[in-house]
Amino acid sequence: MISRDVLAEQRADAVARAEHAASALADLVHDRQGSNDDDEHDPEGVTLSSEWSRLSALADAAADEVRQYDDALSRWDAGDYGICASCGRPIPEGRLEVRPFARLCVPCAEKK
Ligand SMILES: [Zn+2]
Repeated sequence: MISRDVLAEQRADAVARAEHAASALADLVHDRQGSNDDDEHDPEGVTLSSEWSRLSALADAAADEVRQYDDALSRWDAGDYGICASCGRPIPEGRLEVRPFARLCVPCAEKK
């Protein structure tokens, strides 16, 4: 069984990734403001915007994970952790190891 500590650690890890991506995005904005070139003639323009997309996606994914861990932790505190929100059966541990914040068992998740 996954412990609350593990959930809390993984949440902290997701927070760290969110912060890392956010600060990398801030650096990107900073670098961009430091350059006087306009995008069209800036050979790095394309690289920067693909880097921007990549970092934004990372930041979004990490922020989303943080929310899911918050949700998992509050379910843990309520005593509902590891119980499928749809059918009420226990979620197999193997699934929780892969997706610690899973709210549904595999059959219920696949029905959606
Ligand atoms: Zn279920």
